[in-house]
Amino acid sequence: MVQPEHDIALHDTDRLQGRAALVNNVKAAVSLAGAVRSTLGPRGLDKMLVGPDGSSLVTNDGVTVLEAAQIEHPTARLLIAASASQDKVARDGTTTTVILTAELLQNALEMVRSGIHPSIVINGYSIAQKECLDELESLSKEASSPEDGKSVVSTSLAGKIGESLAEHLTGLAIEAAEVLSDEAGGDDLERLRVKRLPVSGGSSTDSELVNGLVMPKTRLDNATPASSEGGRVAVIDGGLENPKLEIDAEIEVRSSGVLQGFHKRTLENLQKQVEHLSSIGVDLLIVRDGIADEAVSMLREAGITAYRRLDRNDLEMASRITGSQIVRDVKGLEEGDVGSYTMRSEMVTAGVTHTRIDGDEGGAMTVLIRGSSPQIREECERAFDDALGVAFRLTRDSRMLPGGGGAQTHLARHLRVFAPKNKGREQIAIEGYAAALEVVPRTLAENAGLSPIDVVLELSASQASDSKNGSWIGLNAWTGEKTRMDKLGVLDPLFVVSNSISGSTEAAISVLRINDVLWAKQDPMTPDWKDEEDQED
Ligand code: ADP
Ligand code: MG
Repeated sequence: MVQPEHDIALHDTDRLQGRAALVNNVKAAVSLAGAVRSTLGPRGLDKMLVGPDGSSLVTNDGVTVLEAAQIEHPTARLLIAASASQDKVARDGTTTTVILTAELLQNALEMVRSGIHPSIVINGYSIAQKECLDELESLSKEASSPEDGKSVVSTSLAGKIGESLAEHLTGLAIEAAEVLSDEAGGDDLERLRVKRLPVSGGSSTDSELVNGLVMPKTRLDNATPASSEGGRVAVIDGGLENPKLEIDAEIEVRSSGVLQGFHKRTLENLQKQVEHLSSIGVDLLIVRDGIADEAVSMLREAGITAYRRLDRNDLEMASRITGSQIVRDVKGLEEGDVGSYTMRSEMVTAGVTHTRIDGDEGGAMTVLIRGSSPQIREECERAFDDALGVAFRLTRDSRMLPGGGGAQTHLARHLRVFAPKNKGREQIAIEGYAAALEVVPRTLAENAGLSPIDVVLELSASQASDSKNGSWIGLNAWTGEKTRMDKLGVLDPLFVVSNSISGSTEAAISVLRINDVLWAKQDPMTPDWKDEEDQED
């Protein structure tokens, strides 16, 4: 028989096919999950990540661990991508997504070993996923009180930081989320509109939310007022500088008059710009680039306070808060571009002068992240990020579910009743899916030092014993009790749980579809996978 052409072309690759490919891929997924499962839940342990340069980071966050790890296996990278997408969409549930994917794959492998074709497993998993998503919607309830909202947000912080800081950050996150709740914008709105500003000194619980822009900057000219009760502001994405000479340009100086004339014209040019600002009532000027020394006194005389060298984000925040349009240069500024601010003040925090600008147009805030060391501030910032991500998304969809493995236990019970209603071998795959979901209560139990088997059985039994509210029973990881999670205040948002179910199922299915893995023989010239992915971003 003639070899098909593509097979001949494969002499430079190692090839894994069929079962061997699956085994290899599942192994990678399981070992990846093994690296993060001990962080799950409030009693999960921290990991210390040490970088190649010796820098270290202590974290309890699954996705942080995975992103820092230099993992080569393509299947493992697929799982990391699923967890990163969970982070992007839901901001929480990343560890759960990884361990659930691995568990789905492990159960799939067992089924394949017992003679079930991967395509049947894929079908069964898809049916189960759809059933779970519907079932979660009917189980969920709206967060009806501010207390509920608080419980959901603080559940997302459980075990990551101390209790009092968690409570403090929950409060800040909910306050900020409320400000953003009426704003239009995409998924990243809460990252774009809330500036995180680390400020040294104080303790993390002194972190505060400011309804305005705060930046570590002082005004250009100390002779201008340090504060103001409000006025009109121009935001310039450029500078107020002398025109720059082209690098090659030469001025032929035949007499001293030529140079003087040049200097005079630049001064006139600056003066014109300042007069223009003044003529449209601007008293606060914010620019991205520099301001010429010669312009300083002109601005002072025109009663304009100026700030220079702002970064792009600050410029955008200033524009949003004050309703001004960002303009490329002063000459192009029109009356309609000018915005208004309601307050400007300077304060010295930890020895650094900061300026705060408030405006009524709203929709942007600054959080001053406090803490005595950079590590503590980073940890506080990460926790705040999570809390705000969840709080913000809750303003759009406030439906919540029992935490502590309650939702997954309910789904597993539901699927076991649902499976026999399906004809054919898919039934088995649906049961395998149900068993995989129990990895959540099992791992929570493990990390709390409890017996995983007993916890899963007892949870299932207690849920079944109360047909009305039983499905809200989950594991209290602190005491080991199986109790009503709505009463205890351990609640997960519906969007976190649903997303992690669909993300894990899709990731598992895409691994199951792989029947053939071609490994290029290691060649030093082979491009790194990581680089390719970075380009896609
Ligand atoms: P993930 O990255 O998946 O969000 P976490 O480490 O944040 O992982 O753990 C989340 C899980 O911990 C959720 O299932 C949540 O319900 C559970 N959880 C949070 N607080 C408690 C608690 N007090 N008792 C039991 N489970 C809890
Ligand atoms: Mg979490």
